[in-house]
Amino acid sequence: MKRVSPGTIVLLLLVVGTAAGQGQSGWRAGVASVPITPKEPIWLAGYGSRERPSGEVLQEIHAKALALEDETGAVTVLVTIDLLGLSRRLSDQIAERAWQEFGLSRDRVGLNFSHTHSGPVAGDVLRPAYPMEREHVRVVRRYTSWVLDEIVKVIGQSVEQLSPARLTFGQGSAGFAVNRRRVRTGKRHLPGPVDHDVPVLAVHGADGELRAVVFGYACHATVLSGYQINGDWPGFAQESLQEKHPGTTALFVTGCGADANPLPRRSVDLARSYGRILAFAVDLVLDGEMAPVGGPLTTAFERVAIPFSKPPSRLELEARVRRETGSRQRHARFLLERIEREGRLPDSYPYPIQVWQFGEDLTLIHLAGEVVVDYSLRLREAHGWDTVWVASYSNEVFAYIPSLRVLKEGGYEGAGAMVGYGQSGPFRAPVEEIIVEKVDELVKRTGAATTSRRTPKETIAQ
Ligand SMILES: [Zn+2]
Repeated sequence: MKRVSPGTIVLLLLVVGTAAGQGQSGWRAGVASVPITPKEPIWLAGYGSRERPSGEVLQEIHAKALALEDETGAVTVLVTIDLLGLSRRLSDQIAERAWQEFGLSRDRVGLNFSHTHSGPVAGDVLRPAYPMEREHVRVVRRYTSWVLDEIVKVIGQSVEQLSPARLTFGQGSAGFAVNRRRVRTGKRHLPGPVDHDVPVLAVHGADGELRAVVFGYACHATVLSGYQINGDWPGFAQESLQEKHPGTTALFVTGCGADANPLPRRSVDLARSYGRILAFAVDLVLDGEMAPVGGPLTTAFERVAIPFSKPPSRLELEARVRRETGSRQRHARFLLERIEREGRLPDSYPYPIQVWQFGEDLTLIHLAGEVVVDYSLRLREAHGWDTVWVASYSNEVFAYIPSLRVLKEGGYEGAGAMVGYGQSGPFRAPVEEIIVEKVDELVKRTGAATTSRRTPKETIAQ
C-alpha cells in the first residue's frame, strides 16, 4: 500500500470541503412546489367518454420547479406539471412572463406535463374531444387563468431558493409500460417497442441532504378514467418518493410514452402500485453509484416546421358537420372556425425542440407533443444510452408525433388522434427525419458551446 503523507490528507480534506461548501462545479439549485388542484368541479382531461365534471379529489396535483444555476451564473428552470398538457399559446405566455419577471430566456425554461388523464382540462388542448357545455367552458377558463399564475409563481419561487448543490445522474428500469398498439384487437402482429429506462437526476444540498429528485418514465398516465382528481401513477410515484424522503421534492418528467399504456389498469390500487414500483426503481438508483454531473448548462430552443397532409376543403368540412356527430362533428366545426379566423388551415406545425447540455455528462432533449417511443430509442442510440434523456410532452401538447413506422402502420397514434386535437389531418412522412435532424443539430451546437464556455482553469483541470 502506498504511504500517504499528512500533507496529502490535509489537501484532500480541503478539496472535499470546497466541493461540499460551494457545490460541485459551482452548481446552485432551488426547488419549489405549488398545489394546482381545482377548487370547483371541472371537466377532466384526456377522455372523450366522460359525461360530467369532476367529483372528489383523490390526490392533490402540483406544479413544481427546479432552478439550476451553473458556474457561469446562467439560470435554467425545469417545470413539471400534473396536467395533460397546455397549448402553444399558453406555454408561450408562461415563457414570456418568466422572461419579463425573472429574466429567463425561452431556451432556459422547460415545461413538462405528466399527462395525467385525471386532471382538469386547461386551455383548449383536445377541445373537440370533450362534450362540454358553455358553463363547463367558463369553469375551464377560470381554472386556466389561475393555473397560469401559479406556474409562473412556482418558477419565481424556485429561483429565490437557489443555494449550493451537487448533481448526479443514473438510470434504473421499471416494466409496467406496455406498447399499447399491439395489444389492441387484431394488432398482435405489430412490433411492440418500449423504453423501460428510468432516468434519475439527484440534487443534493451542501449539507448532503437530498433536496430534489427528477425522474422519468415513458408511459401514458391512464390507469384511471373516472371522475376523481389525481395525478395517476406519476402522482403516486412523486408522493411515494416524498414520503420516503421527507424534505425532498420529487419531480416527474414524461418520456416518449405516446404508444405505451400502464397495463393492466383501471383501479386506484393499480395506479398506486405502479407509482410505488417507479418510486422503488428510483430509490435503487439513488442507493447505487450515480455519476457526477458538471456544468456549464448550455441550452437551445428552436422551432422547425413539420408538414401536415393536405387539409380538407371548406366544402368537405361543411359536409362533415351535416354528416357526422360527436367529436367528429365538433372537429369539423373547430376547423371551419379556424378557416374563418385565419383564412386557411396551416400546412405545417412549428414544432419546438429544446436541448439542455450539462457539461459532458448529460443531454436532456425536450420534445413537444405526444411522441412515440421510436424517437427515444433512435436518439439515444445516436447520442448515447448512458447520458441522453429524451423527454416528451414538453413545452406544448398539440398532437401525437408518429415515427415513419407508426405513420405507415396508421391507427390512433398515426392518424386518428388528430380529430380530438383539432388538427386538420395526419403529419406527412418526413416528420421523423425533420425532427431527428434538428435534434442532431442542436445537440452538436450545445455540445460545442459547452466546451467553449468552460473556464480555462477547468479545461486545464481536465
Ligand atoms: Zn395521450
